[in-house]
Amino acid sequence: MRVRPGSLKNGREQTSKKRGEAMDYDRNNVFARILRGEIPCNKVYEDKYVLAFDDITARAPTHVLVIPKGEYVSLDDFTANGSEAELASLIRAIGHIARERGVSESGFRIIANNGPAAHQEVPHFHVHILGGRDLGGMLPRQ
Ligand code: AMP
Repeated sequence: MRVRPGSLKNGREQTSKKRGEAMDYDRNNVFARILRGEIPCNKVYEDKYVLAFDDITARAPTHVLVIPKGEYVSLDDFTANGSEAELASLIRAIGHIARERGVSESGFRIIANNGPAAHQEVPHFHVHILGGRDLGGMLPRQ
């Protein structure tokens, strides 16, 4: 499904972050392009602050990505600069989607890769929701 969400300035206008201090947001990243409707996604959920869609390379029967519409590079950026409304909306969306997908009771995992050590690939903050099968232990032991 092709989505055409509102302005990327949603939320960002409510913050006081001065861009360019620690990290710059790349407006050509793939999730920014999905938010602008330039490339398609399989939309799962949308509200004023949040968009969620299926991961293109699903690692589990349920593999949904939940992203803020505002321009945040990472969880670090989002939690430092996002508004209370944006943070609350994103967390509520995660619970809503997990219930809708029927994984709340069987169990699910959320992952937010932040930065190089976590191998974050897309520089727009996103939370993975994974479920629908046994997900194994949290991380392989070293
Ligand atoms: P991360 O390593 O946490 O940055 O995860 C990025 C995720 O984005 C990966 O799981 C990719 O499969 C997913 N991804 C990349 N491009 C797309 C796309 N066009 N639509 C949906 N998911 C995507």
